[in-house]
This record gives sequence, structure tokens and C-alpha cells, in this order.
Amino acid sequence: MPRIDTLLSSFPRAPLLSQPTPLERLDRLSEELDVDLWIKRDDLTGLSFGGNKTRQLEFYVGAARAAEADAILITGAVQSNFARTAAVAAAKYGMQAVLQREERVPGMDPLYYSNGNVFLSDILGAEAMSYPEGEDEAGADAALEARAEELRAAGRRPYIIPLGLGHPPLGALGYVQGGAELASQIGGFDAAVVPSGSGATHGGFLTGVRLAGITAPVYGICVRRVADQQKARLEQVTAELAKLMNIPRPFAGADILTWDGALAPGYGRAGPATREALQRMAAAEGILLDPVYSAKTFAGLLGLLAEGTIRKGQKVLLLHTGGLPALFAYQNELGFGSVTP
Ligand SMILES: *Cc1c(COP(=O)(O)O)cnc(C)c1O
Repeated sequence: MPRIDTLLSSFPRAPLLSQPTPLERLDRLSEELDVDLWIKRDDLTGLSFGGNKTRQLEFYVGAARAAEADAILITGAVQSNFARTAAVAAAKYGMQAVLQREERVPGMDPLYYSNGNVFLSDILGAEAMSYPEGEDEAGADAALEARAEELRAAGRRPYIIPLGLGHPPLGALGYVQGGAELASQIGGFDAAVVPSGSGATHGGFLTGVRLAGITAPVYGICVRRVADQQKARLEQVTAELAKLMNIPRPFAGADILTWDGALAPGYGRAGPATREALQRMAAAEGILLDPVYSAKTFAGLLGLLAEGTIRKGQKVLLLHTGGLPALFAYQNELGFGSVTP
């Protein structure tokens, strides 16, 4: 098997992040939970609040630049970190960002539509459009393609970052690299816990650590779909990723682990377990998590410990994927920090 650097070097890449991101031991939580707990700080990928999408975008923006694009189009939830980070990357490389905001989370209050990533994307000069559905990947992709067609007709060169399956998962390459980077920092671990949404992070990370020779379980904590649906999605993402890299997938299907005990009350909603996990990390370690992904991932770690899947004394790695701007859009949903004047 060729070296990971060699495998990745054939893909165009636009530098966006400061790497390696820090790997830190969580001393107080390690003691409280009786595990040897480490955190990979991909919330610190830099460049306007960073997060996991910065790694993914290095490859998408690399492809966009190679295609001489002058606009980047992306679709996602209203509070999408991917959209905000795409707006950041587009600004950095002198392209127009077009963000399509899907109604994925019913019943949210006005802060959700104005603050956090929405607010930042507006400052960054992104064009915004909305899509009335949240569970219609094909329809959302078609609406974005229609906007791209208008731009082409106006003489522009749009590049679409696709979210649905069936496209080469360029973003997952960022986490092949991220997994390899972590392996060189940590050596080994007994279990890793990562969020599993589109699957680019989970699938890329699993591929990266396996290529680096680590065989320990990697638990994908479901943030959007139930465990068996998410596992099926990961089967496809990791097969497409191996094909993209032109290697055999370096693990068997049984190696794809998904856990949905922290998913309730559903995508983009923060229930009591999410809220508790968020506050526990903040109070014990001074590290902020986000309500949609990283707090659920930490809640997943706590759940896996409680059920004995992860055991006392083990060396455990938690991947912090960022997403912090969403905190400001979820203030009312979380119920922290109200002051009565
Ligand atoms: C998008 C996102 C995830 C999920 O990553 P996928 O690659 O889509 O699975 C996790 N954490 C944060 C903060 C995100 O923005």
C-alpha cells in the first residue's frame, strides 16, 4: 500500500487550515470517568471558527480552483457549518459563495434564522437562497443545479459541492489525512468516538486510521439518521472513497460501527443528554462543544461508557469537529444564559 501522503498528493488541494490541530488529554474528565480520555481539537482548524469542514473543503476548493471556478455553491441546513466554512473559503480564494438553506429543523425560533452561521455567512458576503424541504437531497441538489445553470448562462463558472451520495467524496479525503495526522500524534488508542452525519468525517477518519495501522474500534455517533441507515450510508461512502483513492477499502463492513443512542430528539434538536454533555465538557475542561454534533458525540461517548461498550481504564479519543457558531443560534433551544433586565 502506498503512503497516505502519496495517495492524497494526486488531488488538488487549497490550503485552508493550520495543521496539525492539537491533541490534548482531558485530565479532569479522565479522572471523573475513569478512562484515559484524549481530544483531537478540530474545532481549532482556524480561519473564521474552523471545524471539520475546513479539512473537507481543502479538497473541494482545490478541485474548484483546478476547474477555474469563480463561484462555489452548497446546500445544507440553515445553521450549516459547511455552508459558513464554504463562504469563508470562497472569500479567501476570491470566489462567490452561494448557500442554499434547507428547512431541516422544524419549530426553531428566530435566532436560528438570524444568528450563528447565518449571521457570519452574511458578513462574509455569501448569496443565500432557501429550500422549503429538509429531507429531499435530490430536490435540493436539483435546485442548486438550476442556480448554477443561471450562473453559467451569465458567463460565470460555478462549482457545486454535492451533499448527496453518488459523487466522488472529495471531502472525506480531508479526514483520511486527519486520521493519519492523529495516528502520528497519538500512536494508538482503544476506542475513538466521532460524529457521523454525511459520513465524510467518519468514513475518512476510519480509512485514515486503518491505513495508518490502527485497528481499534471507531464509533460513529449518529446525528441525523438511525444506526442501520447510517451504517448503510457509510458502506457507500467508504466504498466510493476507496474507489476515488484507487485502493482496496482497508477494512471490512463489520468495522463500520454506528451508534444512535444520542440522536433523540432528532437532527438539529438538542435534548437533555446533549445539553448535559455540553455543560459537562465546558465545566470540567473549559472546552465548548456545539449543540448539533460535538455535544451529541460526547453524549455518545458517555452512553458507550455507561453501557460498557467502552470500558474503564481504556484510552479513548474524542474528535471535536467544531461547529461553535451554532451555539449562538441555539441559545433558546439550549436554555442557557437568559438575563431578565
Ligand atoms: C458537518 C458536521 C459534522 C458531521 O460531519 P460529516 O462529515 O457530515 O459526517 C460534525 N460536526 C460538525 C461541527 C459539523 O459541522
